[in-house]
Amino acid sequence: MIEASELQCERCGVALELKKTYFSYLGHAFHTDLPRCPVCGQVYIDEELVKGRMSRVERELEDK
Ligand SMILES: [Zn+2]
Repeated sequence: MIEASELQCERCGVALELKKTYFSYLGHAFHTDLPRCPVCGQVYIDEELVKGRMSRVERELEDK
């Protein structure tokens, strides 16, 4: 899991907060905790999480 307190918004210089964030990719929706800047709202997506989930989604789509 991501330690949001270790992340800072490069633009605002404030610590990011973990927020339940909804996003979708290739028609699949994900609801997960992502580090988000409380000032500008920039969401930082954890690449490991995204790659893991997206590659799974892509495999599922190819199977169909
Ligand atoms: Zn910011």
